[in-house]
Amino acid sequence: MQSFDLHMHTNASDGSLPVAELIARAESNGVSLISITDHDHFVAYEQLAKLHRSSLEIIKGIEFSTLWSGVGIHILGYGCNAQHPSIKDLVAYQTQARWQRAELIAQKLEKRGACDVVTWLYGHSQQHYIGRPHFAQYLVDTGKTTSIQQAFKKYLGAGKVGDIKSNWATLEQVTTAICESGGMALLAHPAKYKMTNAKLKRLLIDFKALGGVGMEVVSGQQTNDVTQYLAELCNHHEFVASAGSDFHHPGRPWNEVGAQSPLPSHCDSILNYVTELQCNLHD
Ligand code: AMP
Ligand code: MN
Ligand code: MN
Ligand code: MN
Repeated sequence: MQSFDLHMHTNASDGSLPVAELIARAESNGVSLISITDHDHFVAYEQLAKLHRSSLEIIKGIEFSTLWSGVGIHILGYGCNAQHPSIKDLVAYQTQARWQRAELIAQKLEKRGACDVVTWLYGHSQQHYIGRPHFAQYLVDTGKTTSIQQAFKKYLGAGKVGDIKSNWATLEQVTTAICESGGMALLAHPAKYKMTNAKLKRLLIDFKALGGVGMEVVSGQQTNDVTQYLAELCNHHEFVASAGSDFHHPGRPWNEVGAQSPLPSHCDSILNYVTELQCNLHD
């Protein structure tokens, strides 16, 4: 287990654990510094403010969905002031984008024989978060697919009918809002986009020009080859390097809280910036 983990989700987005249980899990795994990075909102931090203080150090985080060159890209924001108008507007925009997109995905699925998808969604989601995992659950519950994995493979994954990303804020809008609200913008899990090396390099150049300062060199448990490749890219672009599990659900050891592969020592670790990032958690 690593001593820090800066990427994880609660049940305020598409994870399964409430904030208190996620924190207890980090503590029992021996992790002493975390960031909760739910998709496109800070609701977990409102819940955190109501809990008894724990000894765990926490950096405020968020994972935004964006669109760059036709690819859905995730950007992590750390240390943002959640009350800053730029970030508040972006969170509101993304919430609305999620619901508009949900209606489009529902229409696509209904054309393929699904019924009353939107009604089902209203009964199974929260106002501040609706995402593809809800559709996956719908498809399983109604017997259209046998598993969540299969739902992504057939209907929701990259290039499939439910993979609608045109609604997201642009990479520029997201990076700018994170910077304006005092945060650091980092590219999440660069290896997951399955881009060519040339395209990934273009993304890193564009991201840096927009104000991006770092990238995840480690996401979950990954092979040494991937880690070395990403560490080289990170150093080449003079980026800060981060690491996180991207924990969503218990029972997946490769994404367990704190169980990500180690960050190479020759990177400029985000741990060097923790003091700057620890703004008031309850703002
Ligand atoms: P959205 O934010 O609505 O685009 O949904 C994306 C989320 O779906 C990701 O953050 C993952 O948690 C989840 N996801 C993506 N691909 C898969 C997959 N193949 N199997 C299970 N969950 C997935
Ligand atoms: Mn997710
Ligand atoms: Mn992501
Ligand atoms: Mn994530």
